[in-house]
Amino acid sequence: MLNNKENVFIQNISSYGEADFFTVDVLRLDVIHPIVSGNKYFKLRLQLQDAIAQQKNTIVTFGGAFSNHIVATAFASKALHLKCFGIIRGEEPKQLSHTLLEARGYGMELIFVSRTDFKNRCFEDERLVGENYYLVPEGGYSVLGAEGVKEMYNWIDETYTHIVCAVGTGTMMAGLVKGALPHQTVIGISALRGNESLLNEIESLLTNDQKKKKYKLLHDYHFGGYAKHPQALTDWMNELYAMEKIPTDIVYTSKMMYGLKDLLQQNYFPKGSKIMAIHSGGLQGNASLSKTTLLF
Ligand SMILES: *Cc1c(COP(=O)(O)O)cnc(C)c1O
Repeated sequence: MLNNKENVFIQNISSYGEADFFTVDVLRLDVIHPIVSGNKYFKLRLQLQDAIAQQKNTIVTFGGAFSNHIVATAFASKALHLKCFGIIRGEEPKQLSHTLLEARGYGMELIFVSRTDFKNRCFEDERLVGENYYLVPEGGYSVLGAEGVKEMYNWIDETYTHIVCAVGTGTMMAGLVKGALPHQTVIGISALRGNESLLNEIESLLTNDQKKKKYKLLHDYHFGGYAKHPQALTDWMNELYAMEKIPTDIVYTSKMMYGLKDLLQQNYFPKGSKIMAIHSGGLQGNASLSKTTLLF
């Protein structure tokens, strides 16, 4: 479906501190695809394969008006010649968001439901009657979604001691825990403010054995909450880009890269640590900023 995985590369970064003490590499999954970027590809892969194996010809998924997952699912479904419906949270706005216009451009049919119905996953619509559809949960959150993420270990060998990623639903983090070796620690940096149930949600994708692995979810780097992007954050994004030529997104990867730097400065990692930070993409989310905000 998307054969750009040969573009993926590992970028060593030097501006985070002394190479004698630790190594920091970034896994540049943002280069896989501008739309099905980074982790969305990995989360969808097995679920769409499963849909095809079950001879479903239609995908139904869920999301908000600014969801990267919605656009990624729309695009991937089109590439696989599957019909696709997006159940969208909230009443239909007069002006569709950039995200929804793009999803519709890829052939996704949008079904707007009230917040309550969205929460209850109540979505009767005549367009769905008689459809033999496959449900992909919001954000790709499922065991299969997490299993697909294990493929990231094709680029992460056993010499890495820590793997650091951004967390929304936690599907990617769960997949990284599933694939980790016993000596590797997975550190998730939440993009949400004070979501107490997040760790439970991650753990419910893990088996009991996987729950014994080493992982930690951190809540201190949300910059005000989900999709909040104060100037301190966009300044940091420009600083990181100037130093390392790494473009990051306002929702997830900028906060993760900031958190990682802060942890290193606090000597959070033992001497000799070799860290892989996952650049999970999402750059299209920056389109909502004014053109002069970012250097890239
Ligand atoms: C969707 C997304 C995430 C969150 O992934 P989860 O598996 O939901 O935790 C992280 N980074 C980027 C760039 C994303 O688009």
